Amino acid sequence: MESSAESMYREHIMDHFKNPRNYGHLTNASFKHKEFNPLCGDEITVEVKLNKDIIEDISFVGRGCSISQASASMFTEEIKGKTIQEVKLLDRDSVLGLLNIEITPVRLKCALLSLFAVKEGIKQWEGGK
Ligand code: ZN
Repeated sequence: MESSAESMYREHIMDHFKNPRNYGHLTNASFKHKEFNPLCGDEITVEVKLNKDIIEDISFVGRGCSISQASASMFTEEIKGKTIQEVKLLDRDSVLGLLNIEITPVRLKCALLSLFAVKEGIKQWEGGK
């Protein structure tokens, strides 16, 4: 049987899945980046509006499983207001800590898709400066 803490986190994930935060498009994004997870069919496109090196606003659109979409919702909430340098320091454990449930290896790419999208977007934005 599931522990009550675990079912609480699962509910938290379902809440983000059903009512995603920061969902939609920005009118004046500094950069956007799309990532695809062929293992599960998940898609995430993040749009980032920078003010100097601060993430002033961020949004995402996507489709796929609850883990991928809830993770994007939580992760975009988490990094809004952070600097590019701070976001670069975030890793898989930062994202898994937000989700706070056990992620099987098969679902790992689902959970990390939004992290990859943001990091790759930053890399390309820096390369194109
Ligand atoms: Zn997935």
